[in-house]
Amino acid sequence: MAPINENYAKLPGNYLFSTVAQKVEAYRKANPDADIIRLGIGDVTKPLAPAIISALHSAVDEMGKAETFRGYAPDGGYPFLREVIAENDYRAKGCDISPDEIFVSDGAKSDSAHIQEIFGKDARIAVSDPVYPVYVDSNAFAGRCGSYNNEAQRWDRVVYMPCTAENGFSPEPPKEEADLIYICSPNNPTGVAMKKDALQRFVDHANRTGAVILYDAAYEAYIQEDDVPHSIYECEGAGTCAIELRSFSKNAGFTGLRLGFAVIPKALVRGGVSLNAVWSRFQGSSFNGAPYIVQRAGEAVYSPEGKAQLKEQIEGYRANAKILLDGLKSAGYEVYGGVNSPYVWLRTPGGMSSWEFFDRLLEKANIVGTPGSGFGPCGEGYFRLTAFGTPENSVRAMERIAKVRL
Ligand code: PLP
Repeated sequence: MAPINENYAKLPGNYLFSTVAQKVEAYRKANPDADIIRLGIGDVTKPLAPAIISALHSAVDEMGKAETFRGYAPDGGYPFLREVIAENDYRAKGCDISPDEIFVSDGAKSDSAHIQEIFGKDARIAVSDPVYPVYVDSNAFAGRCGSYNNEAQRWDRVVYMPCTAENGFSPEPPKEEADLIYICSPNNPTGVAMKKDALQRFVDHANRTGAVILYDAAYEAYIQEDDVPHSIYECEGAGTCAIELRSFSKNAGFTGLRLGFAVIPKALVRGGVSLNAVWSRFQGSSFNGAPYIVQRAGEAVYSPEGKAQLKEQIEGYRANAKILLDGLKSAGYEVYGGVNSPYVWLRTPGGMSSWEFFDRLLEKANIVGTPGSGFGPCGEGYFRLTAFGTPENSVRAMERIAKVRL
């Protein structure tokens, strides 16, 4: 009989978002007339910008002609895309990143799940807490997290870096030994972004200890404040200790198209081995590239029209975040995030657990959000709402919250 990877049996319950979906479906079946407003899963709602649609159309036409048809993409992505990324996201901002340090992928979820493959099986991980669940789950599959303690809601071999109201939801470098340090900034779910000096402390720590930082900047486009870095490479010395992951999902609405990239500087070397070369080897063996038409669409994100159209889209989502922030504050909630991020993080009233608040919000206001406890132990007692809905629904949701006592 084929043995199954026993680490899967150690995982707690379902993936957070499947549990949310099941609960909402059960409620909807029992209450078919309920007008449910979904501010839960972080999917975008605005259609693709015209510049992207136009790039897709022309790439599709190219694929229909023998002279311009493209098959497998080059390893690492098409040069036309790697070059505009290097220029616009890095060099134009003073970060010395070259196209061959960029690896185009089908999104930051796959990259953040797979990047652990290139590290030793005993590598010890540290994660911001709460955070996007994929980092811990993928390391748990690989057997690096030890055992899960249901009561404490934690893995015994994971170093948790608490992000709490007391530290402004900005983690500090771990005191315990850690080889891989996962940071997500702006953070999902707290919506808080790290300031440059706080991030520099991590870079200095990693260069001193030999750890590698896995920096997920999927929400970079939402940063508004000047002292918040858009890339970890704005910090001095990050080129020798950090991998950055980016996505086209939240800045350009590619959640259904799928595109992202990982940046692995050539100067990042551990045990005499170049991580850029190892990742290149891993990708070569396990990934056949993002589709040509999607890479062309990605290129259009950096065109003057694309930039202008996407700026407007993001401003729309930011306006929703402001509606949520203001609405929750005036309803008396303690709220965080929502300024450099599309996520608003609220403390559940009266010490309610995150899931208890989820149920009450669904039943009394017909609003779906995401329980903070699903993102890590420090998320308990908190709740996430997203600004990716429509302005109308954001306003309606706040009107309902103002009326009901939860
Ligand atoms: N990283 C973070 C922090 C996210 O919140 C998400 C999606 O919600 C992703 C990555 C996934 O990005 P992608 O759609 O590029 O796979």
